[in-house]
Amino acid sequence: MQKRLPLIAGNWKMYKTGDEAAQTAKRLKELVSGVSDVEVMIAPPFTALCQVAVEIAGGNIALGAQNMHWESEGAYTGEIAPGMLTAAGCRYVILGHSERRQYFGETDQSVNRKIRAAVAAGLKPVFCIGESESQREAGQTFSVLDKQIQNGLESFLLQDLESLVVAYEPVWAIGTGKTATKEQAQEVHAHVRQRLAEMIDSGFAQKLRILYGGSVKPSNVKELMAMPDVDGALVGGASLDPETFSQLVHYQG
Ligand code: PEP
Repeated sequence: MQKRLPLIAGNWKMYKTGDEAAQTAKRLKELVSGVSDVEVMIAPPFTALCQVAVEIAGGNIALGAQNMHWESEGAYTGEIAPGMLTAAGCRYVILGHSERRQYFGETDQSVNRKIRAAVAAGLKPVFCIGESESQREAGQTFSVLDKQIQNGLESFLLQDLESLVVAYEPVWAIGTGKTATKEQAQEVHAHVRQRLAEMIDSGFAQKLRILYGGSVKPSNVKELMAMPDVDGALVGGASLDPETFSQLVHYQG
């Protein structure tokens, strides 16, 4: 089986000022220094990116953003362009997070444009998908995910998707303390990989990293990461404290 480098990514959401984020990043850099068998990424708020970039320079933490616009510049008040993120030191960008879809009107179509723009700017997209609780209860999990994948990656070519990371985040597990069981996560990840093998290419699907997100914490990370198709975690709440996040990065013990 293809060996995939695990990615543990922290989404700091709308938490931390520039100074607070810089302090957290500085401590995290110490805690994860020397880790080479797991990739580490943090996505602070936009206003903290430059300060965090300075703190993590020369270390093994990658910088990410939580969102961006698809245009390269223009009269889009309040938005941030892909080139602004790369200039701030970002290598990753989280796109289509369920909070963006739920509260800010993001659609599969806008996510598609953003993924395209991220790739063009040299940013690695972390493409978030996930079903709601009612959709899971109605037995629609796979069909909901298939639609998000189909629309989100519509008309992409294989060569555009080399840097893609997918994050499966069941909406009912985000910030709720409810985690998908390792079996539920594995079932979905295997389905997503299979779907992408059919839709794009089987070699691509084997190399693709699929992260799990939804109340990942030190007590459950190891069993989730032991699943063959779980290649990492996208972590909200438990990424805010550097000691806790470092425990996730060191999940192998
Ligand atoms: C997230 O925001 O992507 C997330 C998974 O949050 P939490 O870990 O807090 O559930």
